[in-house]
Amino acid sequence: MVDRQALQQKFLEMFGSPPRLFRAPGRVNLIGEHTDYNDGFVLPMAIDRSTFVAAAPRSDRLVRVCSLDFNERYAFDLDDAERQSQAPWLDYVEGVARSLEACGVTLKGADLLIQSEVPIGGGLSSSAALEISAGLALLSLSEVAIDRVQLAQAGQRAEHDYVGANIGLMDQMAAALAHRGYALFLDCRTLETADIAIDTQTTAVIVCDSNVKHALASSEYNKRREECEIGVAILKKELPQITALRDVRMKDFQRYQEQLPEVIRRRCRHVISENARTLEAAQMLRQHNLAAFGQLMLQSHQSLRDDYEVSSSELDALVEIARQLPGLIGARMTGGGFGGCTVNFVEPFAVEHFCNTLATRYQQVTKRTATLYHIHSGDGAEELKD
Ligand code: ADP
Ligand code: MG
Repeated sequence: MVDRQALQQKFLEMFGSPPRLFRAPGRVNLIGEHTDYNDGFVLPMAIDRSTFVAAAPRSDRLVRVCSLDFNERYAFDLDDAERQSQAPWLDYVEGVARSLEACGVTLKGADLLIQSEVPIGGGLSSSAALEISAGLALLSLSEVAIDRVQLAQAGQRAEHDYVGANIGLMDQMAAALAHRGYALFLDCRTLETADIAIDTQTTAVIVCDSNVKHALASSEYNKRREECEIGVAILKKELPQITALRDVRMKDFQRYQEQLPEVIRRRCRHVISENARTLEAAQMLRQHNLAAFGQLMLQSHQSLRDDYEVSSSELDALVEIARQLPGLIGARMTGGGFGGCTVNFVEPFAVEHFCNTLATRYQQVTKRTATLYHIHSGDGAEELKD
């Protein structure tokens, strides 16, 4: 965990003035996978681990950035028209700054010192935590107020235009807008959100990192996006009013599915059924029907494994092992897939045994070591004032 005082002290030593302190959380997606770029529904939860940014304004337009996690320091000038691409991680910070300026905001220069407790590259979205915490810091130091959705969109543009990751808006929305004690239901088309309470008396959320990330993740991600677009183009001939898979009802899909090539058909079936599951899961959570929620998580995993084909043998092993353990409510892979994490709902009494046994059996089956996190919900981005 980040020692806030030590971070502020370090800033003072490094940059010579006392900083303000900002943070934004990572997230875990409970259900609604590969639906965001299909204009669909997602249900992430911000977690109680954050990226912290200690920050002070400057009188010029220079932004100096140090990440303690990478032990590197760079600077860029907001008045330089061209970005210099100095380091991959800097693109997230420079990207969010330049995206904010591109939508009409004038930022002051700043010194930023970054430290994170979100595992980096582990599927809990350290990248959005970085974009949103740095974005909030830069805006606040510049005394500019913009709404949180715009901040999230600036983070997303940083990933699209500077990092080269063509992702949906879920991670940034969770980092910017979520509340402790709640999951964040998000309609990715209208960007409407709703907080849905998570009762920690009856469920614990356990994230299990398979510690495997297959290299094909990003090329396969782009391929899935294309396959969905092909599906829409074909279904549009029968259903001219649709613009995304979000608009296709299951009964219309069943009626016209024969017109789709076999692979495209399965990709579409995943997205259409996952949207329906996510809507139902949100309803079940509202009604405190955790058993039904858990079943939907398991169905989601099956669909991602068989129809969307984005799981991995390690993720499948983690879900299969979890299913057999006492206290399991539901389990599924979470995130883009091809490795990464599973998310598990577990009855609180069973957590210790669940975690120990899952880790042991995973090791036996795959000869790999899993990392387990007992995750609590967290608040969206904020300035920390003492
Ligand atoms: P995830 O978002 O799941 O953690 P990504 O690959 O999307 O994985 O983002 C990880 C990248 O984000 C890192 O490789 C790094 O470039 C950047 N990043 C995240 N956290 C930090 C940090 N604390 N300091 C510097 N860069 C960071
Ligand atoms: Mg990321």
